[in-house]
Amino acid sequence: MNSNQLPNTLQQLFGVTNQHVTELPGNTANSLYLQSEVIQAFQRMQQAAAVAGHDLQIASAFRSFERQEAIWARKFSASSQDEAGIATILHWSALPGTSRHHWGTDMDIYDATALGEQKLHLVREEYTEGGPCWPVWRWLQDHAAEYGFYWPYQGRGNGVAAEPWHLSYAPLAAKYLELWRDPNTISEWALLLQSRKLPGFPLLLQDLEALIRRYTLQVEPIPSEVQR
Ligand SMILES: [Zn+2]
Repeated sequence: MNSNQLPNTLQQLFGVTNQHVTELPGNTANSLYLQSEVIQAFQRMQQAAAVAGHDLQIASAFRSFERQEAIWARKFSASSQDEAGIATILHWSALPGTSRHHWGTDMDIYDATALGEQKLHLVREEYTEGGPCWPVWRWLQDHAAEYGFYWPYQGRGNGVAAEPWHLSYAPLAAKYLELWRDPNTISEWALLLQSRKLPGFPLLLQDLEALIRRYTLQVEPIPSEVQR
C-alpha cells in the first residue's frame, strides 16, 4: 500500500507525513517539530514556568513512523518474539503508527538547568522527589491545564508505564485519539504494517483491535480543568 493514498488525517495519525508540524524556533541543541498551535501554547507555558524559576524544555516532540519503526525493529529482534515479549516492549514503546508522538501534539519535557550536565534518561526517579525534574513537574501539576496540557500516561493498569515527562495538548490530541475508535482506522493501519513488512506482524495480527484498545485507547481521560 502507498501511504500517500491515505486521507490526510490518517497520514498524520500514523506519522507517515510531517506536513502538520513545524520546527520549534530557537532550539539549538536538536530539531524539534510540533503543530504550530502546540508550539504557541507550549511557549506561553514555558515563559510562565521561567518566571517561576523553571527551565522547561522539550526532549522529544514529533516522531515519524520510520523512527518508531526502527525503535520497534530493534526491540523486537532483541525480545523473546512471542506475546510476552511484545507486552514488555509495549510497556515502554508504542507500535509504529500508534505513537502519540506522531500527532505533533505530544512531547517529553524536562528542566534543562536543573538537569545540568547529567544525561536525561526519562525515568521515574528524575521526576519524583529529589530528582532534577521534580520541581518543574510539580509546577506543571498546578499550571499545565491552563495551557491545554495533561498527562495521558499515568500507569493505571493499561499496560503502559507511567510517564511523568509526557505531556499532551488536549485540544488537538483528542481528535486524533478519536480516530482510533473507527474500525476503518485499524484496517488501514494493518495494511500499512503489512506493506512495511513490520517484524512480528503475524503475531500482532492475531488481535490488533485488542492492542489498540489496551495501549492506545485506554489512556487517562482529559481532566475537566484542562483548557480546550
Ligand atoms: Zn513521550
